[in-house]
Amino acid sequence: MKFSKIKDNDIANGLGITMSLWTQGCPHHCKGCFNGETWDFESGKVFTEDDLDYIMKNINKNSVQRDLSILGGEPLCPENVDGVIEVCEKFKAKFPSKKISMWTGYIVEDFTEKQKEVLKYLDVLVDGPFQQENRNLSLAMRGSSNQRVIDVKKSLTENKIVLFEV
Ligand code: SF4
Repeated sequence: MKFSKIKDNDIANGLGITMSLWTQGCPHHCKGCFNGETWDFESGKVFTEDDLDYIMKNINKNSVQRDLSILGGEPLCPENVDGVIEVCEKFKAKFPSKKISMWTGYIVEDFTEKQKEVLKYLDVLVDGPFQQENRNLSLAMRGSSNQRVIDVKKSLTENKIVLFEV
């Protein structure tokens, strides 16, 4: 898995204050993407145990209670999905009450079996590609109206897509 940056304090992406992990590499190439520098799979840094340690040690830095947001790039493309699942698994094992929000350009109904493995660790999933023709800056947690903010825990329990109340 590769990443472009870890942002310690993010109030723009997620629920409240989050630490944000930006994965590197995206196959979707959405027209109007706000984050084109994360497309290149040759760019960014390889995510290591030291980077995971950094997240674990700093998630509550200065007594600020942060949740975790994972964005991209594309966290769930074949190049990143294994590493992202491992991060989510280890993070939730250590911080079970903290929420994980994730953004993906894939649509959850089309997830591969591998991609589905991440769902049990997520609280919020924003799915679908950014669509410039549906761009709407007033929407919470998403850039275009085709994207959905999914309550993953409720969706798994009820076995249907339940949208998150934002
Ligand atoms: S999925 Fe996200 S990062 Fe990838 S091209 Fe679309 S908007 Fe950009």
